[in-house]
Amino acid sequence: MRVVLLGPPGAGKGTQAQVVARHLGVPAISTGDVFRDHVSGGTELGRRARACMDAGDLVPDELTVAMVRDRLASPDAGEGFVLDGFPRTVPQAEHLRALLAETDLALTSVVELLVDTQELVRRLSTRVVLVDGRPSRREDDDPDTVRHRLTVHETQTRPVSEWYAAQGLLTRVVAGGPVDEVTSDVVAVLEAVRTEGAVGR
Ligand code: ADP
Ligand code: AMP
Repeated sequence: MRVVLLGPPGAGKGTQAQVVARHLGVPAISTGDVFRDHVSGGTELGRRARACMDAGDLVPDELTVAMVRDRLASPDAGEGFVLDGFPRTVPQAEHLRALLAETDLALTSVVELLVDTQELVRRLSTRVVLVDGRPSRREDDDPDTVRHRLTVHETQTRPVSEWYAAQGLLTRVVAGGPVDEVTSDVVAVLEAVRTEGAVGR
């Protein structure tokens, strides 16, 4: 299955992508994680992405799309994937569609996680990540940058869910409850899509 998880920063995309990907037996691919690996590895891509990430802005589409093209070409993504944090603009979504079409593939499903802003801010203000095994805070989770990232999501990424909705690919899941409840709702959506696909063949 080829799945995209959409939702604002703090909606739980990363958390759900891990569990859902394990359930489906495919890799979870977080563009944010790949960029952070490039930043900590000091690569050219990391150097170019860093200023955007620190400011809470999006990395330019051209760099992001090239990175995703490489990642999806890896053998482990051959059977499918759960994408977390990509696409974040309509041009990225169009590139992804074209990229998959090159091998006669298409997305199976897009799930958007819905969480109210107060809860997003609460989650991001308490998010702890492991860096080299040590608990740490993401620099872009500071309150000012979070506010900006939420605005960027509303203006640049919200149209992506409308774009997928227009193609009949999108399911929205209320994701303000406990992690396990959200997981079972997301898995139920994907199982339903898989069953419909099997019936349709
Ligand atoms: P995203 O990838 O969408 O930015 P994360 O998966 O990193 O979001 O989740 C943001 C924070 O909220 C993390 O600290 C995570 O542990 C926590 N979190 C994720 N899902 C839930 C949930 N359903 N209820 C409470 N906290 C959650
Ligand atoms: P995330 O880990 O998904 O919160 O992403 C962290 C940061 O990485 C974002 O604020 C962006 O700067 C950058 N980023 C991640 N994914 C994308 C994307 N698809 N397009 C552009 N920038 C991205």
